[in-house]
Amino acid sequence: MPELPEVETVARDLRPRLIGATIVGARTNWARTLRSQDPVAFAEGVAGRLVTVVRRRGKQLVVELSGDAALTIHLKMTGQLFVVPAEVPEDPYVRLVLELADGREVRFRDIRKFGKIGLYGRDPASGELVEEVGGAAVFAGVGPEPLDEVFTLRDFRKRLRRRKGRLKPLLTDQSFLAGVGNIYADEALWRARLHPLRSASSLRPPDERRLFEAIGAVLHEAVERRGSSIDDYTAPDGDGSMQETLDVYQRTGEPCSRCGRPVKRIVIGARSTHFCSWCQRLPPAERTGAAAILRTMTGGSVRRGRRWTELGSGGQDGVDPLARFERTRRAAATRRAAARASIEHDPAVRPPVKKRPVG
Ligand SMILES: [Zn+2]
Repeated sequence: MPELPEVETVARDLRPRLIGATIVGARTNWARTLRSQDPVAFAEGVAGRLVTVVRRRGKQLVVELSGDAALTIHLKMTGQLFVVPAEVPEDPYVRLVLELADGREVRFRDIRKFGKIGLYGRDPASGELVEEVGGAAVFAGVGPEPLDEVFTLRDFRKRLRRRKGRLKPLLTDQSFLAGVGNIYADEALWRARLHPLRSASSLRPPDERRLFEAIGAVLHEAVERRGSSIDDYTAPDGDGSMQETLDVYQRTGEPCSRCGRPVKRIVIGARSTHFCSWCQRLPPAERTGAAAILRTMTGGSVRRGRRWTELGSGGQDGVDPLARFERTRRAAATRRAAARASIEHDPAVRPPVKKRPVG
């Protein structure tokens, strides 16, 4: 799922295309894409509004509109946004279209239909986006932005010390930090040399500092590289390149770039977690607790007598994990190319993507 760097990239790509544009209508092909599930009210609600700001909050895009309204767009698993002239043929995965006054359309394409778009007003008192005046703020439960300059090591420590959980689930908890998901939690923990099942309460001040710095560094780098084009993620100006430099995420079995030992994969809360069991060791006092958590979280798939850190290194279903990863990667690249092919025949809309040297 697109995380902070990917959504930030989409926001940056959309900004020059959308700011100043006026929305004249909307077509909904799949009503459940709308949080309200009411296409008529949505079309009436957006018509006549001007796009003033395009930004990101956590993993969502926020398109601010004139008249104190805003759209939130959650890409979820497979959501993609393109801005094209209305005459470009529409492909069957387009779930929602915003029609612009200048003859262009914003198309939300979403193969798996998990994406969500909401239209909200602004509470005159608090200035927050709300469903109704006096109601709860849309982003009330979302934690601080890790790349925000006002978010300091002190704030991070304070939040960390209030939590009891283990690091991986904690980092991906949107109420703890906004925008960090599976990819960047795994990468930040590897950089900070902290085990994903380490408990937050066991961290010493230098551990906290390393983790804080690792989160900031990996997210900054990923934004620079336009995110990781894994699965269906692509942005209006094309794919990212961060996937080429990830150290552990989806690299099960490959040598750790620090110590050379194979990267391990464990399943925590039905999500894959990638780490190096040599560089990211658990303190002895934490090992029994972590093993117990793992047994419940993997639904009993930990084999008796087998060290839990070795789970997944050979693939539980007998399939070579590297071969499976390669197949998944190729399939996703094909889907992204197909998405772009449907709009790329108009060079006036999509200037060629500048290739940046990698490295
Ligand atoms: Zn290592």
